Amino acid sequence: MSKLMSWRELEIGCIVPEPGNSVRYRTGDWRALRPVLDKSKCIKCLLCWVYCPEPAIIRHEDDSVEIDYNYCKGCGICANECPVKAITMVPEGGE
Ligand code: SF4
Ligand code: SF4
Repeated sequence: MSKLMSWRELEIGCIVPEPGNSVRYRTGDWRALRPVLDKSKCIKCLLCWVYCPEPAIIRHEDDSVEIDYNYCKGCGICANECPVKAITMVPEGGE
């Protein structure tokens, strides 16, 4: 969890101070629901990788996938699109 800042410390909206700075913003901190991947069910179709809007699905060379919780916002699109229900959304902070 990021430390609380006063409004004076916040970046001015709609400004990109330098290229590539978005990696510094751990958008996963916003998440209320967490996608959990059951690798034993995954058929490596890559639909989650295609549809994730962040992208927070990491694709490995063998087409297996992993969720990057630093940037996953918990939207649930991957779980909705997975044809074999290998991804389940659970409350953040739970088991
Ligand atoms: S929950 Fe949303 S942001 Fe997170 S991995 Fe799935 S599609 Fe991407
Ligand atoms: S959509 Fe489901 S089956 Fe396809 S790669 Fe992602 S987790 Fe695996």
